[in-house]
Amino acid sequence: MFASRIDRIKPSATLQMTAKAAELRQKGVDVMNLSVGEPDFNTPKNIQLAAINAMKNGFTKYTPGSGLIQLRNAICEKLYRDNSLNYNPDNIIVSCGGKHSLYNACQVLFEKGDEVIIFSPYWVSFPDFVSITGAKPIFVDTDPLNQFEPIFDDLKNKITSTTKGLIINSPSNPTGGVWSDEAIQKTLEIAKKYNLWVFSDECYEQLTYENKFTSTATLVPTYDKILTFQSCSKTYAMTGWRIGYTAGRQDVVKAMSKLQGQSTSCPNSIAQMAAIEALTGDQSVVLQMRKAFHKRRDLIVHHLNELSNISCLSPGGAFYVFPDFKGYIKKNNKNITSSTDMSMYLLEEEALITVAGDNFGSPNNIRFSYALSEKNIIESMKRLKRCLKKLLF
Ligand code: PLP
Repeated sequence: MFASRIDRIKPSATLQMTAKAAELRQKGVDVMNLSVGEPDFNTPKNIQLAAINAMKNGFTKYTPGSGLIQLRNAICEKLYRDNSLNYNPDNIIVSCGGKHSLYNACQVLFEKGDEVIIFSPYWVSFPDFVSITGAKPIFVDTDPLNQFEPIFDDLKNKITSTTKGLIINSPSNPTGGVWSDEAIQKTLEIAKKYNLWVFSDECYEQLTYENKFTSTATLVPTYDKILTFQSCSKTYAMTGWRIGYTAGRQDVVKAMSKLQGQSTSCPNSIAQMAAIEALTGDQSVVLQMRKAFHKRRDLIVHHLNELSNISCLSPGGAFYVFPDFKGYIKKNNKNITSSTDMSMYLLEEEALITVAGDNFGSPNNIRFSYALSEKNIIESMKRLKRCLKKLLF
């Protein structure tokens, strides 16, 4: 009954876990939700006010398909200020979230017969974005001991005459890994050699803790096949507003605009006005949120490493940790043989909501988000400890 493209993709595992947490809460269960992919802070007041004013002033109509010119100007200003990237509004398209931006770009550039390199562990949506176009996702290994940077021999071995592009996501979801400039530069040199499109998903660019973030496109400025994807979602606690954007070559941006014009018409007009304030207004809130996440990262990493048979390296960014549970999977008295089983066990035993590494191409890991209060992080770690204790035999 359905077109074959819909069978090529699966439901988002992270959204499924979010729904599960809501369902249990509804039943009165005291859930600890470590599956969240969004800041627990509310959108800052100045941004909320900009939206209210937009409505009052009649910004409630369709906007140009690729976004308001004022917003695209604000994005250029932001890219120059924070990322040393020099673009003009014709190089920018605003979409309904970074996810929509990435989806559109895949639709515009990839098709049946193409292969696209994805570094594993990967964000759940990357393989589906590629598969729905008819292209084939090809997975390249990374080094967990080194911020999940690529294993370059594997990358070189996986490139074929049909490889069309690769997707970089640093800081990464699910690992929190932040690649060094050298690793990104090396990846870009390989991409350039094989004439590949480079997608740089930078939606966590403001959340790095030890090292200052470097935008991929600044590292090899002469290579024009790099597309930069950013978003208001994580930086300004605006996940529900749905504003993300792409910066890149004008011809690609134009093709994405054509597609967007025939699908969503334009991003939400009120959210676009709010995004102008987010990007050009007071940025101190970004620093405050980064500081809070930094503290929470140290807290959760400390607690995880106190548990026996668990190892968790300190990720350089985002708000996820990705500890290795191989000390328990297949070595327990409860028939837990995969990270999915382990994640379900944590849910059933102590109402801990996590996302299994199986969904990210990593069978022994579990993703924990630390976008929750320090009190709840401590409580979650107590529950985890009790769960793991029961597995020892
Ligand atoms: N890219 C990555 C790696 C993400 O984790 C997410 C959200 O979880 C997105 C892109 C998309 O975010 P949004 O569509 O809210 O901008």
